[in-house]
Order: sequence, then structure tokens, then C-alpha cells
Amino acid sequence: MVGGLWTGWGGRRRIEARQLRNLRRLVETVRRDSPLFRRLYGDLPPSDEVELSDLPVTRKPELMAEFDDWLTIRSLPLDKAREHLTDIGRVGVPIDDVAVFQTSGTSGEPAVIVLSESFVEYAYGIMLARFERYHRKLVRDVRNLGARVTITGGRGHFAGNGFNKLVQRLNPRLAKGFGVTFVEAEQPIGQIVDRLNAIGNVAWIVTYPSMLAILAREKETGRLRIEPALFTTGGETLTDDLRERVKRAFPSLKYGIADPYGCTECLALSFECSHGRKHVNEDWVILEAVDEAMQPVPDGTLSATVLLTVLANEVQPFIRYDLGDCVQFDEDSCTCGSPFRSIQVEGRQATLVRVGGVTLSPLVFNLEHDQAQRIQLVQTGEWDFELRIQLAEGAAAGPVFQEVIASVKRVFRDNGLDDVTVRTGEALPEFTGSGKFHEVLPLRNTGSRT
Ligand SMILES: [Zn+2]
Repeated sequence: MVGGLWTGWGGRRRIEARQLRNLRRLVETVRRDSPLFRRLYGDLPPSDEVELSDLPVTRKPELMAEFDDWLTIRSLPLDKAREHLTDIGRVGVPIDDVAVFQTSGTSGEPAVIVLSESFVEYAYGIMLARFERYHRKLVRDVRNLGARVTITGGRGHFAGNGFNKLVQRLNPRLAKGFGVTFVEAEQPIGQIVDRLNAIGNVAWIVTYPSMLAILAREKETGRLRIEPALFTTGGETLTDDLRERVKRAFPSLKYGIADPYGCTECLALSFECSHGRKHVNEDWVILEAVDEAMQPVPDGTLSATVLLTVLANEVQPFIRYDLGDCVQFDEDSCTCGSPFRSIQVEGRQATLVRVGGVTLSPLVFNLEHDQAQRIQLVQTGEWDFELRIQLAEGAAAGPVFQEVIASVKRVFRDNGLDDVTVRTGEALPEFTGSGKFHEVLPLRNTGSRT
């Protein structure tokens, strides 16, 4: 135990020293090579004395508005990047020596993300470095069991699909072990089910939690016949309820559900250890849990948002970048012995519903009906909601809408909101640009965050 503590303390000190050294080096680089950051950091202390708290918070809309001055290279103006992104045939194809992806735009305008080749090497390197024996065995076992399938948005340059293609291009040998079949999330559920059934020996599926919920239901009805050993999820919050439901629906799930926390801005943000905690890769990433005033919140407290600093991307600087997720650092250290701090992620502020003075999680609504394939609640005005339903085959619309509207109104009433209107919508439920499905779409542009 003494040895474990000693390593832990030594580990923390080493991590923090490494973090500060990397931060100061990044600050020096962006002051020299990014016109935007040169202006932003004009009045700061010298780079070799700078502390994290000296640096101003940055946000997506401001950075995107000055994209051409943001990067530390001058060879990729925004119009060139956008032109590349409109060509769907070039997903995962680098421009010059950088890779370009887009975010899904869950919380507003999609951002353009630029990664250098060294970042890609870092992302794979750090993933392998943090692997425990358990992970190595898991990857080997799952690979022997059958195919790995990625189900994500296919109609854009999203990291889910594009990153695999990029690695295949840069390092075919490395990519060989990660060979994947890609299934487009936007196609009708029936087609996705047929495709998976046709593959047969699906061992590992990488997808969004919203797609996982659909797969669980298809498995429960018996239409989906695959028996995967492992799911990996990302891009949305995986709830405990969904985790339990999926485990019940798929008894074959020997390795459970891995749910690392990451984002397009930083793919290798955290790793999930053998005890199921999400540890932040703090030598290359700084995460700060902060309140509405951007002041740090204590460990064990849920933050209003989180600031991300990516120390490994020197081409497109993300420094104290407001990510919009609510997180909570664990107070106690993990039994796995890792000196890297662990977090719990409560999801995006952008998905919370605000009515009057009340804030509701999308999870409080029960948007399921055995006569419906997909149900979506859309906030059209502060007090006005519209329900969109994709009915099951042969279902009568009237009673389904009636029952779901009654259940939604009951939730509002339970939260003291008696004057909310919930109407029957004509349109079908809609997807985000990257093929994610959100059961609840809150009113856009109501807060400061877009
Ligand atoms: Zn751990």
C-alpha cells in the first residue's frame, strides 16, 4: 500500500510538471504562429511563466469566425477546408499534411477540426500506452470472435468514420488490427438490421447511445439476431438505464459496454480503466470543471461547463475551450491505481430543456411506445412543444399521439409547469447532421452558448 501511495504521489507530481511544460510550449507556439492567439495573449506574462488561469476562455463561435487567423499554419483558409468537407469522397483524406473533420453541430454550427499527423500518432500512441493487460486481452478476444462494425453518420466528414480511414491511409499496418465495416446511421432501421444480420458474426459495435437504444429494441423484438461481445459508445451520454437495458437485451455481451469520453476536438481525451472509470489523459489534455462564471468547482460537484485544453494539437489550438459538457471529477482515487484523475460526464447543456425557470433533463420524458419506431419532442417556443412520431407499420396515429402527449404533459405538470402546450407534429423525427438521434430537441439559441 505504501508503495502504491508513493507511486501515486510521484505520478501526480510528474503528470502536473509535464502538463505545465507542455502548456507553456504550446502558448509559445501559438503566440508565434497564430495571429488570433498573438492578439488574445498580447498582455499576458512571458510564455515560460504563464499559468493556466492567466489564459482567457475561448468559444467555438468566436474561434470559427476568425478561423483563418486561428490556425498556426497559413495554408488552410476556411473556404479551402469547407470545399474539402463538401466532397464526401474525400473523407479521411488529408489536405497537405493535415487531416480535416467536422463536428456534428449538436450545439449549433459545426466546427471545422484540423489535426496534424503528429496528433494522429499521439491519439493512437496514448490509447495503447494506457491499455492495461485487461484491454489487450479484450481486443485480442473480440477480434477472434468476429467482425467490428461502426454505425455512425456517413453523410459528412465525421471523426467516427473518417479517423479510421485516415489511419488506414497513414499507417496501413497499424490499421489492419482495427479493420472495420461501416454502416450508415441515417438509413432506415430495417435496413440497418438486415445489414447486421447479413454480416452475422458481429463481435464489436461502435456507435452512438441513441443508436444503441434502437438496436436494443430491435433485439428485444427478435428482428435483430446478432450476438456481439462488446459495444463502444461515444458522442452522447450513455445512461445507466440504457446500459442495463442493453445488457438484458444482449446476453452475449461478455465485455459489456465501453464508454470513453471524447469529442472531435480531442479524440483521445480519456480512457476507461478496468474498473469502469473514465481517466483523463492529463499529460496531453487539461480538463477544468467550472461554474457559470468560469471559476473552478470542487471535485465531487457537477460543473456548469468544462474547459478543454489540448496540448497535443499545435496546428489548431484549443486552449481553455468551452466544451459545454457538465462533468464531475471523482473525489477519491480509483482502485485501478491510475494517477490520472477520473470524471463522470452528465452530458451537454445544449440538450437540457428550459421552460420558465425550470431546467429539465431530456431523460425525464418517456418517449417510447410499442406502436412507434421513433418519437421526438421538439421545443418550438419557450412554452410550446411539438411531438414527432415515426409510427410502427400499421399503427394508428391518433391513439399513439394521444398517449404520448398525455405522458409528456404529466412530466411537465409534475415539475410545476401547467401551461405548456404539446401539439401533434406533421413532420417526421429528424437527425443531427452526423446521424445522431436526439429524442428531445430544446429551443436553440436561448442561452449564451450556441
Ligand atoms: Zn481506474
